[in-house]
Amino acid sequence: MTPDEIIGRLKKGNENFVSNNLTQRDHSKQRRIAAIGQYPKAIVLSCVDSRVPVEDVFDLGIGDIFVARVAGNIENRDIVGSMEFATAVAGSKLVIVMGHTQCGAVKHAIDNTDAKSMNMIALGDLLSEIRPSVDMTERIGEVSSKNEAFTNNVINNNALKTVEDIKLQSPKLKELDDNGTIKIVAAVYDMATGRVNFL
Ligand SMILES: [Zn+2]
Repeated sequence: MTPDEIIGRLKKGNENFVSNNLTQRDHSKQRRIAAIGQYPKAIVLSCVDSRVPVEDVFDLGIGDIFVARVAGNIENRDIVGSMEFATAVAGSKLVIVMGHTQCGAVKHAIDNTDAKSMNMIALGDLLSEIRPSVDMTERIGEVSSKNEAFTNNVINNNALKTVEDIKLQSPKLKELDDNGTIKIVAAVYDMATGRVNFL
């Protein structure tokens, strides 16, 4: 399958999710088959948000997809290493950075929450990774997570920026993307509708 064909399959799976028509799966059987080996066609980088069930969102089951998760779906060295493994070693042809509406991490980055002063040093570092996406987003109205249009634009920009950062951090992923072996794309999951919008 080509990267575009995989995107088509995932969009179709997402239609099933949106229309509440998920495939019934025999997880015991799938688990036994998957134990022999895995050939996932894609790796998704998602936020940790409990309201984003990645496999369900694409109507996928055991052994179908790699999922990496970190608050705010930003890349870091371990995540990029996992993507190099998923593509160059395990044969996945698609990397999706999938943000979501109502993202708490993005909202705190917008509101400049000072996590470090509350002794959450690591969270402070994580939010500062999202801040550039806030700064690069055109100011429409006030810079506040209460400003829904602005917040949604930051969520989009954060996913798009992460795609670019992945290519900057990994010469291998950039090479595979440049020669068409894989595609690295951004998407946003709409929590209200269940729809994944590819950017
Ligand atoms: Zn989130």
